[in-house]
Amino acid sequence: MATPKYKTSKASAASRKAANMRLAAPTLSQCGTCGNMVLPHRVCPKCGFYRGVQVIELQDK
Ligand SMILES: [Zn+2]
Repeated sequence: MATPKYKTSKASAASRKAANMRLAAPTLSQCGTCGNMVLPHRVCPKCGFYRGVQVIELQDK
């Protein structure tokens, strides 16, 4: 197995770890019915529509 030639400094290791731990913002798409921003391939939580079809009935508040 290959062996590292030099010790990785604490700063280098920490910055690499920090870059890998960074959270990515979720991808959002727009609901075609109400315009709400929703996660792709999910039923819209605001209007209950998915691909133009009402798939869940929402309780009125
Ligand atoms: Zn919607």
